[in-house]
Amino acid sequence: MKLRPPTLLIKNYYKRCYSHRFTQLPQERRIRLSGVLMMGAIGVSALSYYYYSILRQQQSQELSPTHFIPYKISHKIDIDPSHFLLELTPLQRQKVNLWSQMGSEHLWSVEVKQPEIMVVRSYTPLPLQVDENQRELKAIPDGSNGDGKFVLYVKQYGNGEVARWLHRLPLGHTIDVRGPFVEYELPKYEGEISRNRDFLFNDEISSTEEDKFKYQPFDIAMFTAGTGIVSALQILLTESPLRGKMHLRYSCGSVDVLGPLKPFLYQLHRYGRIDLQVLESSKESNVSKRQQKIWDQIPSPTNYLGPSNYLGPNKISSPVLALVCGPERYIADISGPRINLAQGPIGGMLKAKGWTEGNVYKLS
Ligand SMILES: Cc1cc2nc3c(=O)[nH]c(=O)nc-3n(C[C@H](O)[C@H](O)[C@H](O)COP(=O)(O)OP(=O)(O)OC[C@H]3O[C@@H](n4cnc5c(N)ncnc54)[C@H](O)[C@@H]3O)c2cc1C
Repeated sequence: MKLRPPTLLIKNYYKRCYSHRFTQLPQERRIRLSGVLMMGAIGVSALSYYYYSILRQQQSQELSPTHFIPYKISHKIDIDPSHFLLELTPLQRQKVNLWSQMGSEHLWSVEVKQPEIMVVRSYTPLPLQVDENQRELKAIPDGSNGDGKFVLYVKQYGNGEVARWLHRLPLGHTIDVRGPFVEYELPKYEGEISRNRDFLFNDEISSTEEDKFKYQPFDIAMFTAGTGIVSALQILLTESPLRGKMHLRYSCGSVDVLGPLKPFLYQLHRYGRIDLQVLESSKESNVSKRQQKIWDQIPSPTNYLGPSNYLGPNKISSPVLALVCGPERYIADISGPRINLAQGPIGGMLKAKGWTEGNVYKLS
């Protein structure tokens, strides 16, 4: 067979299918055909643009750190004059399941815009929704994002701008939210299984079956005060929650300020997910005595050595990291002050117990 140069092949191809079929047609048919082709091209472009704009619109309705999207206040539960819960429902059902995407490895928040004074404030979503029938909170099950709903636990201050404004808003009011913003990232073990949360859906079970993990889970300590507790609850209640144990220290006026969140805290304790110490100023008004109690129960740090094969539940709980979250004064007492929004050196009780810059993080 004779090989022909490619240019000749192309030329022949055009001769066969283009010239013969098109340029040799009578002129009026050529014009008609051009018209049809042009209309077709316009139609295809219009259709592509239509689908592109629908796609863009859908994407722009997904929660994103770059733009605000509207959420409706679907439930509001007043706990006391300072604390309340809001259930927020996006006007557009969300496709992305942030709970499975973030897991317990990411501590994240959203920003709410106050449009009158054009300021934003951060809040920490919880994977909960209000049970319509029982007027109580229930966890969003694995594999579901509750269509994008979440619950915020908010404290309002006497002269605070945004929390007081949020509290005044009526049910059904729409507010602008953007996010997620990751505040802290814990080590992620690729291919690790999720930890079960059966006890959140059936409180009757005596104990949850231990998960057979691939890697040995690590324990952490969290020192929280006031609304800082929400950060701990987020990684304990989320889909695929923290696999190790959390040493949770919670300082508050009274544990009752948690309202419908309180049962979750005690459930987590009962099922061995947390080692809980609650310090209520209403029960112990002496600050030094409260601090002494915290001091007495600060665990020593353990070196984090990275992933290792799973050998069964940790026999001795040994936190590799301490997260501190609460008002400035509290952070300073526990771990030394943050300086100009930066971490600042480690101080306070944690330093005295052997914790260092390498294993302590002060959350904002
Ligand atoms: C990542 C992140 C997550 C957060 N998550 C939550 C959350 O889930 N729930 C929640 O309620 N808040 C949360 N906050 C705090 C929240 O963003 C606001 O700072 C808080 O709602 C106060 O805002 P405001 O506009 O009402 O008060 P502002 O107008 O900012 O403050 C006015 C006054 O209120 C008092 N005040 C404000 N904040 C505090 C405080 N923390 N302790 C003591 N006094 C204070 C002070 O006197 C202050 O001068 C979070 C903050 C961050 C950075």
